[in-house]
Amino acid sequence: MVLTAMASLLNQDLRLYPPPGADSLKEAVAKYYNLTADQVFLGNGSDEVLAHVFNGLLKHSEPLLFPDISYSFYPVFCKLYDISYEKIPLTDDLSLDLDNYKRPNGGIIFPNPNAPTGRVLPLKAVEELLKANQHSVVVVDEAYIDFGGESAVTLVNHYPNLLITQTLSKSRSLAGLRIGLAVGHADLIEALDRVKDSFNSYPLDSLAIVAGVAAFSDDDHFKSTCERVIESRVSMSRALTKMGFKVIPSAANFLLVKHEAHNGIALAQGLRKQGVIIRHFHQDRIAQYLRITIGSEQDNQRLCMVLKSLITEQ
Ligand code: PMP
Repeated sequence: MVLTAMASLLNQDLRLYPPPGADSLKEAVAKYYNLTADQVFLGNGSDEVLAHVFNGLLKHSEPLLFPDISYSFYPVFCKLYDISYEKIPLTDDLSLDLDNYKRPNGGIIFPNPNAPTGRVLPLKAVEELLKANQHSVVVVDEAYIDFGGESAVTLVNHYPNLLITQTLSKSRSLAGLRIGLAVGHADLIEALDRVKDSFNSYPLDSLAIVAGVAAFSDDDHFKSTCERVIESRVSMSRALTKMGFKVIPSAANFLLVKHEAHNGIALAQGLRKQGVIIRHFHQDRIAQYLRITIGSEQDNQRLCMVLKSLITEQ
């Protein structure tokens, strides 16, 4: 449906600027989530949405809180916009400990499921955090939510300080189109729109707008791709466990794994030599881990085959 919608727009209309508010896509997102269009913000990928959130909503006298192992862009935005921050350590099993967030703050942000761990917080826990923290913005970055988590979108009408960001890059397979969104109280969205209009009034081009609308109508395709990724994640997880890997339970489209008998960097390099690219983080506590994205059936089989050969030959 996305490709058909885009093809139908490949005509003379492209000489025109797109509508600055991308209203048709705001309406589509609002309808999908049972919200109103003034509760929806759109940007050129969720990285751009996050950039405006950091710039416009999170700069306060108290520090912003986020997990020590989390999305690497958060500290980058803090440095760019001169925002003080505190990294809150994950527990030994790499879970979020919400009690640690009950301290003075100028905002809280975390991905749910977390990246790169894949661990997910249940909706009840997110709500508990919101109950305990009602005076600063809580941003839940739901880039990977459709692969097994429960979205906090249903809480938006109950907590005016909640902002949720999402992307069409992962579960909707449209990373190349750069479409990101945020949903929250209309006042937060209005603030974000002012920041965006001071930066770039037209972050979404006409093709991305019609593609986004089509993506939210094509529920069958969306559900079937999510299911395929989840099934592959379950079988990959089983195969890696059999090879002796410790696999962190994941609700995302990747797995974070480590092998007690094999060095993380050596495995990442061995895979790369054979054309299999995974993520390795030179970071305390996860330096022994590999983050493996779920790929096509063929990709997954090749990864398992090469990994098996590396483990047996070393
Ligand atoms: N949040 C998280 C946690 C991510 O991992 C990513 C992808 N790198 C993003 C946001 C941004 O995705 P995009 O800009 O493609 O929407």
